[in-house]
Amino acid sequence: MAYIILNKNNFFNNLDIIANRTKSVDKIALVLKDNAYGHGLLEMASMAHEYGIKKAVVRTSDEAQRVENYFEYILALADIPTTKSDKIRYTINDLTSIEKFPKGTKVELKMDTGMHRNGIYECELEEAFLRIKNAELVLEGIFTHHGSADELTSEWFWQKKNFGKIKEKAQKLSLEFGFKTLRFHSSNSAALLRESNFDEDMARVGIAAYGCLELPDALSTREFKPILSLYAKKLSQRTLHEGSRVGYGGEGVLMQESVVSNYDFGYGDGFLRICAQNGYKTPQDAPLVGRISMDNSSFISTQEELLIFDDARVMASYAKTISYEVLTSLKAHLKRVVI
Ligand SMILES: *Cc1c(COP(=O)(O)O)cnc(C)c1O
Repeated sequence: MAYIILNKNNFFNNLDIIANRTKSVDKIALVLKDNAYGHGLLEMASMAHEYGIKKAVVRTSDEAQRVENYFEYILALADIPTTKSDKIRYTINDLTSIEKFPKGTKVELKMDTGMHRNGIYECELEEAFLRIKNAELVLEGIFTHHGSADELTSEWFWQKKNFGKIKEKAQKLSLEFGFKTLRFHSSNSAALLRESNFDEDMARVGIAAYGCLELPDALSTREFKPILSLYAKKLSQRTLHEGSRVGYGGEGVLMQESVVSNYDFGYGDGFLRICAQNGYKTPQDAPLVGRISMDNSSFISTQEELLIFDDARVMASYAKTISYEVLTSLKAHLKRVVI
């Protein structure tokens, strides 16, 4: 079976750079949603724990429970509780969802500062506090998400400014309502890298930790190293003459006699089919031949085990997408091996 290698040194290198930015390991909240961006939830949780990361961000209550033993604080972005847990905090994404949470649930309030996806507006803050109090929830934090931190536009700046106003207002309200001191956070990877003097309570870091952050040239990200590489195993090999056509539809036409091997990695495992249309080559320059099948893909190569990719950003450029999609397409059934 095709398998994934996770490079622990590279992960720790990325975390060093991030900790330097947040000025403390305790302020890193590692984003582990979607099977840790395809890297493997438990594999990444365990390595993060070994490094000393205490906080994690996930999508669901189920993911949160699976990593509960590795962290002190877990934020679930889009779910309601299914069991009682002291460690898990749940996100309020809009006013009407407040009454869905059981009494005593630890919650954080998401604010819409300009992305217009999830969260409440500044003008709804007081009503939200009132509803949270009436529902007897435990409000611990206020946060927002940037829509364009990875683009050199003023959008990041405006969202930051809006969040600044919200912080002041929320602090006053929290005193009035008798809530505890609130936690504030807004940065994802790109926002953290743009911040010259980080001073929030934590940063929610995903793609940078996985070493695949891409920012405009002005903001260098070269020190980050991808941690995931994917290898496939040879199923069969054949020598084919010039003009032979390989795979479904016979689309892979050989320009000369070639040794073509078939490997056990296909779109059913997460190999995006569009790569075949854009002349995909492996990092060692083996060309993909013909269409990608569900469980197979053919390359001009004789290697027993073929490195398919070791930088999701490169694969993403062939697939005309972003590294996030390449990584989260990798299916959970692929074996993950930490080195
Ligand atoms: C996915 C996500 C992040 C992490 O974003 P990266 O760009 O991977 O650092 C942070 N915050 C929220 C709310 C998210 O959904």
